[in-house]
Amino acid sequence: MSGFGDLQSLASSITAVTSPFRNYLNDLYERYRSLDDGAVADYIPELALAKPEWFGICVITAEGQVFEVGNCDQLFTIQSISKAFVFGLALEDYGRESVNSKVNVEPTGEAFNAIVLDEATNRPCNPMVNAGAIATADLIKGANSTERLKRLLAMFKRYTGREHDINVPVFLSEKATGYRNRAMAYLMLNFGMVSDRIDETLDLYFQQCSILVNAKDLAMMAATLANGGVNPVTQERAIDERYVQDVISVMLTCGMYDASGEWCYRVGMPAKSGVGGGITAVVPGQLGIGTFSPPLDAKGNSVRGIKVCEDLSRDFGLHLFNAAKPDRNLAEWLAGGDGLNDW
Ligand code: GLN
Repeated sequence: MSGFGDLQSLASSITAVTSPFRNYLNDLYERYRSLDDGAVADYIPELALAKPEWFGICVITAEGQVFEVGNCDQLFTIQSISKAFVFGLALEDYGRESVNSKVNVEPTGEAFNAIVLDEATNRPCNPMVNAGAIATADLIKGANSTERLKRLLAMFKRYTGREHDINVPVFLSEKATGYRNRAMAYLMLNFGMVSDRIDETLDLYFQQCSILVNAKDLAMMAATLANGGVNPVTQERAIDERYVQDVISVMLTCGMYDASGEWCYRVGMPAKSGVGGGITAVVPGQLGIGTFSPPLDAKGNSVRGIKVCEDLSRDFGLHLFNAAKPDRNLAEWLAGGDGLNDW
């Protein structure tokens, strides 16, 4: 009855329960749960309902071990985090060159909702700012709006291994008040950078932002990218292997809004944040991190989420360009060793 896969997942869940890494995450959670900097997004009333004390941290390894602490089942809207994954689907639909002819991959240093297009080519700067995300959503194939949305939801299911719903009140509020997004969409239409089904595309963009996820989903999505595009638990491929590097490179250079440079310098992980309070961060080949805490800093990034990722990066030497021996050896901590780095 129980195949090798079952035994393997049983073994890894036992390790996940006993691993000292679990204690490390508990300490991390305790360290930052009382931090009360930042403010919950309130540009629409539905987001302002989020409780500032909600806080969850989930880490999933590329082998599928799951570690979680805090509010990891609390649902919230994915918001801008969706942009990285929809970019991946657009690449699958049209290929690198064609997508790049519509959306550049240059960090802006501007706020995510800036109305800026590349002067020479009229392209939005990158797929992680709103203009670029709308142009990317425009590329998602499908005969009609329902089919396009279904394709997005099916994609997120491949990454997380479960069905996702849309928070309809958030969608309707985003749609009703998204004048700025509408303005940039029409500016791009004026330059012929998006198709004339722009109202349908705007709906799709507002819907993708309103997809409900939890911190565990964000960790699983990151772990899937860390694992070359295959969900480490379901073993389902979520994205063509060829495009994983495209998605995570743009996450590294543009994923944290206009704090991306500082994030790269301090944390050194491809990541994407959203105004719902989520962050998804990838340590290629090793693990995915999902954090959830609604209070945001002035740039729109979760305050506690940044702290958590900074500490994980520093303590385990997870910065992409780290060449020094870290204080702690992650493999040993995960495997249940004493956690002391003696190599
Ligand atoms: N729905 C938001 C917007 O389009 C997404 C913003 C975000 O998470 N930065 O403005």
